[in-house]
Amino acid sequence: MIAELRIDLGAIVRNVDALAALVAPARVVPVIKSNAYGHGLIEVARALDGRVPRFAVYELDEALALREAKISSPIHVLGPIRASKLGAAHAAGVEITLWDGGSYLEDVADAAHDGGAPFRVHAKIDTGVARLGMRVADAPARLARYAAHPSLELAGVFSHLAAAEELDSTFTREQLDAFATATRGVDPGVERHIAATAAAMLWPETRLEAVRTGIGIYGLWPSPETERTMRDRGFSLKPALEWRTRLVLVHDVPAHTPVGYGCAYHTKRPSRIGVLPIGYAEGLPRNAGEHGHVLIVGQRCRIVGRVCMNMAFVDCTDVSDAAAGSIVTLIGTDGHATIGADELAAATGTIAYETVTRLPAHVPRTYLVAAP
Ligand SMILES: *Cc1c(COP(=O)(O)O)cnc(C)c1O
Repeated sequence: MIAELRIDLGAIVRNVDALAALVAPARVVPVIKSNAYGHGLIEVARALDGRVPRFAVYELDEALALREAKISSPIHVLGPIRASKLGAAHAAGVEITLWDGGSYLEDVADAAHDGGAPFRVHAKIDTGVARLGMRVADAPARLARYAAHPSLELAGVFSHLAAAEELDSTFTREQLDAFATATRGVDPGVERHIAATAAAMLWPETRLEAVRTGIGIYGLWPSPETERTMRDRGFSLKPALEWRTRLVLVHDVPAHTPVGYGCAYHTKRPSRIGVLPIGYAEGLPRNAGEHGHVLIVGQRCRIVGRVCMNMAFVDCTDVSDAAAGSIVTLIGTDGHATIGADELAAATGTIAYETVTRLPAHVPRTYLVAAP
């Protein structure tokens, strides 16, 4: 095996429970889009099925894969669904996102009519991301129309926040006010939800009846500020994912030896260069050699040179035990040292969300099963 992703499903269950306790009485809806942020859609859903009110995914195919795997919880598709697929969505009992007031609304009603039951929908309001949703000005009339429509069952009304990671954001307050204005006439039985992980943590007034938490359930933080604030309050998360490989071989090379494509790195001293059997095709960003590190025998080693498609280099000069076969930790703990997904993200100019979500589905994943 070239590399292994090890995912602790018990950690995910623990994080969901911790978030549920934090936001109660609001309910926690785990967001498991994009292969559960790289952690494995089906396995994560199986670990949580029956413990959560529903799942949220981005696209219909994810919901259908969950149904295929016998996941029975309600599933809300956050993103758009082509009109031609509405019949399949209805047959799978999927809850859809609706903001339209025109022909798509008729397509939804037709699919419900053909399926013989109302379509459960979450109405989306755009309060300031300029992404999906109806305008606030259109919301009162349109929501009333949805609520009265015989082919629709208005299960929820929701929106999404643009700047909730910021501790003091007047924009978040404006969005919350806009959401309240837009949904004023909505029946109290309809679930309101606007918060993702950062808002659920930092902005109690955004919790409403449910929160849609993605990154937090995997034990990762939406931002360093969120982590600092919540740790100060005694709230912790357990990262669920570790990523390891093994050194293929170790070369002893003199000072000033070029390493890798473009001779982008030259050794500064007589060095021991370790070769990893993974590259950007396995999810290690091409620029990880600029600032990235790995752990070998509990010690930090720099990634050097340009990451290749399937290989990469590390400087393990200071790790005398490093040899072919030594375990290399890219994300996770080895001895007393830890590299988090956020550290690899920062070293490669991105955020932990992207780092884990881009871990390719073909890299084998091993699961530590959650205790029943
Ligand atoms: C991805 C997503 C979430 C989850 O966001 P996190 O920051 O990962 O908690 C919530 N709501 C919507 C609409 C999303 O697209």
